Amino acid sequence: MSSQSADEQDPCVVVGAGPVGLTAAVALAGKGLPVLVLEAEPQDRLRTGSRAIAFLIPTVNRWEKIRPGMGDSIAEAGNVLAGGEAYYGDKRVFTIRVNPVLSKHFARTLSQKKVEAILYAEAIKLGVEFRWATPVTGVTTHSDGVTIELESGEQINTPYLIAADGARSVVRKALGITMEGHTDPTPFIIVDVDEHPDGSTPLKSIFFQYNRPELDGRNVMYMPFAGGMRVDLQCKPSDDAEYLSSPEGVREWVGKVVDPWYAEHIQWISMYRFHQVVADTYTDPHRRVILAGEAAHLFAPWGGRGLNSGVFDATDAATAIAEALRAPDREQARKVIERCATDRRDWGLRNRAVSSAGLRRMRGADQLTRVQRTIAAHLAPVVWPAGFWLANGGVQLKLPRLRASKSSLFY
Ligand SMILES: Cc1cc2nc3c(=O)[nH]c(=O)nc-3n(C[C@H](O)[C@H](O)[C@H](O)COP(=O)(O)OP(=O)(O)OC[C@H]3O[C@@H](n4cnc5c(N)ncnc54)[C@H](O)[C@@H]3O)c2cc1C
Repeated sequence: MSSQSADEQDPCVVVGAGPVGLTAAVALAGKGLPVLVLEAEPQDRLRTGSRAIAFLIPTVNRWEKIRPGMGDSIAEAGNVLAGGEAYYGDKRVFTIRVNPVLSKHFARTLSQKKVEAILYAEAIKLGVEFRWATPVTGVTTHSDGVTIELESGEQINTPYLIAADGARSVVRKALGITMEGHTDPTPFIIVDVDEHPDGSTPLKSIFFQYNRPELDGRNVMYMPFAGGMRVDLQCKPSDDAEYLSSPEGVREWVGKVVDPWYAEHIQWISMYRFHQVVADTYTDPHRRVILAGEAAHLFAPWGGRGLNSGVFDATDAATAIAEALRAPDREQARKVIERCATDRRDWGLRNRAVSSAGLRRMRGADQLTRVQRTIAAHLAPVVWPAGFWLANGGVQLKLPRLRASKSSLFY
């Protein structure tokens, strides 16, 4: 595979073995295509920091579709949501308990790490080849494929490449594709804690509190997932976010939000300023590369659009590549890739709008949102949708508007 041009029989290459790259590899291999995954980090890497915990049911179904049994395994490994609660100041304004039979249709909550382990095991069963500790340093596309440069100096040719190399995507940069959007200035501190040994953690509802008095009016949220619970703090502009995200700072505020036991059982502490950006195109001029997941877009986690939509990017890209490889001529093949890239970018823009709406509601930085939140809080005890609107701030359960021509029906 080191000649100047790619053969259509050469493996398709996926750059990045994160959840989106692993999904792409399973989807391509499930279509009978040879697949090579190039991953910069070693196989025994420890992925630090908090990541996705909410996997929406359309995503689970998509995993099940590309690899029967895989979606079910992910669903079985996750928890179902017990309910939701919203507080405004010190007043509980909304509460809902969800029947477990119904709630299993909303989402599964588990750590991204567990999902990645399931995806990797399936990729191996399907014969996907992995090259770990193999950073890609550049790519060049031409009319019959892609030449990939590795840090070692080796070159690899492939007919098609899915770039799932994350937020700092080398592939995206090598193609000169830029990201458009903005970075929200508000720091959020995200803490993952262990499950309480008394068994109470999975029974907890998702909890939102706007203007929590014990935390000088900051917003907080917690959400259980299989194996732990996530606790989020929204900093004020004047906060010392470094201190609040230090082990001492975290112990101080986590103990005021949940049982102080959790403050002594911390898994991860991360501080984020969320980007709301989408690549200005998801493909190259030769239509040989498709960007997927965080290589293509970065969203605040409100609404769970990041990984969830990355799964749709990856699986749609695999379908388009399989179709392009079967196309009668190059022009048809180009059109298939272009359609997929345009479609996924449209979804990227819509998903950004959904997560921006969640972020806006949580932050309440503008006068209008603050007024809306105050009115909703007053109405919530008697007008159910007002309470739902408040509690749904960080979840954004409403799906974006569908458009008939779109290949992915969800996000
Ligand atoms: C706090 C938090 C909470 C979140 N919650 C949710 C949620 O509930 N639901 C949701 O849908 N999303 C959520 N997200 C987003 C989700 O975590 C990301 O969308 C997801 O990790 C992106 O996966 P990815 O595979 O695109 O990128 P990554 O996970 O970043 O994987 C990229 C891979 O590419 C490799 N790589 C990078 N450069 C190279 C190179 N040059 N050569 C070879 N390999 C390379 C990296 O080592 C890595 O393995 C959350 C994110 C955060 C931070």
